[in-house]
Amino acid sequence: MGRMESLLAALFPHKCFGCGELIEGTGYCCTACREKLLALTVSEACPRCGKPAGDCICAAFPDGFDRAAAPFLYHGPVRYGIHHYKYRHKRYYADFLSGFMAQVVKDRFGEIAFSGIVYVPMHWKKRNMRGFCPTKDLARGLSKRLGVPVAEHLLRHTGKGKAQMEQKTAAKRLENVRGAFEAVKGAKLDGGDYLLVDDVLTSGATAHRCACLLKGMGAGRVYVVTAATTGKES
Ligand SMILES: [Zn+2]
Ligand SMILES: [Zn+2]
Repeated sequence: MGRMESLLAALFPHKCFGCGELIEGTGYCCTACREKLLALTVSEACPRCGKPAGDCICAAFPDGFDRAAAPFLYHGPVRYGIHHYKYRHKRYYADFLSGFMAQVVKDRFGEIAFSGIVYVPMHWKKRNMRGFCPTKDLARGLSKRLGVPVAEHLLRHTGKGKAQMEQKTAAKRLENVRGAFEAVKGAKLDGGDYLLVDDVLTSGATAHRCACLLKGMGAGRVYVVTAATTGKES
């Protein structure tokens, strides 16, 4: 560790992503949680939607996004860490998560030359309240690692609709997102392929809606990457 890094680590100690314990140095995860995280890697994922075999959402969303991938299942320490990232202002986890997300993009979509990275937007009031936009920080981390620019001003959150996590049925989620997101007026794309970033892929309704909007403005293919995806542990 350099002098500046050790000074920062002493002033603003990191807490473990998986359990909240204080971490020595500038890491993000304790050894025990790192093991648990690795056990939550999505194995035998559906090649299209990236969900574990029994949780495939392709029948519900045959179009919209082309493919989706996530490094982790949304369980245990992953769920804990993402919750703290989004709601407890652990903004520094964006760097940790985007590292895993970049790796999954390279592994799964390595052959695609993306024109830009688009993140699922948050309504400005909510962003002001939280102090940051979690998906935007993930997009920035990915941009830095993949060398692909973040494409801004394409999608907007209307402020309508409730949190997707609160919608219990697929039909409710779909109805909820339809009014929640819209294309920015006049936004046009050139037929290139785009990487859409969200924190968690749940029913797929948000990804589907945003991908449809991007294609409506001229995107070629839309690939989705999230920090985690819901599904049963294998
Ligand atoms: Zn831990
Ligand atoms: Zn699938």
